[in-house]
Amino acid sequence: MKLIIHGGFFSESGTNQEVKLAKQEALDRIVQQGYDYLKTHTANETVVYTTSLLEDCDLFNAGTGSQIQSDGKIRLSAALMDGQTLKFSGVINVEDVQNPIQVAEKLLTYDDRVLSGNGAQVFAREHGFAYFNPEIPQRRQEYETKLNDSIRLGTVGCVALDADGNLAAATSTGGKGYEIPGRVSDSPTVAGNYANAFAGISCTGVGEDIVSGAVASKIVTRVTDGMTLAQATEKTLTEMKPFDGFAGIIGLTAAGEIYHADTHPYMVWALYDEEVKVFN
Ligand code: ASP
Repeated sequence: MKLIIHGGFFSESGTNQEVKLAKQEALDRIVQQGYDYLKTHTANETVVYTTSLLEDCDLFNAGTGSQIQSDGKIRLSAALMDGQTLKFSGVINVEDVQNPIQVAEKLLTYDDRVLSGNGAQVFAREHGFAYFNPEIPQRRQEYETKLNDSIRLGTVGCVALDADGNLAAATSTGGKGYEIPGRVSDSPTVAGNYANAFAGISCTGVGEDIVSGAVASKIVTRVTDGMTLAQATEKTLTEMKPFDGFAGIIGLTAAGEIYHADTHPYMVWALYDEEVKVFN
């Protein structure tokens, strides 16, 4: 069993050591909680549980504490992929829910598995997800003073390998902040979140770059075709160089490989393994 999580990038320009430390401490705590859960649950259940904990932590740009879009609203996107059933589900730009990853989980059993905007919100309400405003005062202040550039990242993601050898991946984001309403990030797509029987990947970074690089699905395909996780990840990152792609990646394979990489410094992440816990 293995569990790896990320808390997105930490802004290079506005680096505040205290916040970075707090984020890392939160990741270290959550990865342990997630790993305890994994002992008695599937990979798919565990990535939903662990991503929900990350969404509930207001240090990250997902769920509570998400960034505000250019029209003053928060819209959340999240995706889940069960590597065993090969089903992908997600919500794009849903408003006023606490845990978008749980709405994605609910969608996994439906024929229509990715919903956006109002359709996602109506589905959530019909399935018992109560109204929840994910805004915190600090984000509103940042929005109002347009300090977005110094705080812009902090998406969360999780990949789990369970006791039966199954993989799952989940990713959740509040977006990039100040985006045009309607913009779709990589997180609720197969570029940002993908898993099969061989590998699971969650990405963070600039959504447009990650989609251009088809990052998560490409890495998983390469591992499926025989590359090591490290080779597959590095080759995929190299292919982003011509457009100076900005991405961070965490991944696990069914064979037990663990890898994380970033094109720019300061992606925060944490790993929990049977024997060793490795915190970034
Ligand atoms: N990938 C996310 C987006 O482009 C942002 C992030 O990972 O921090 O919306």
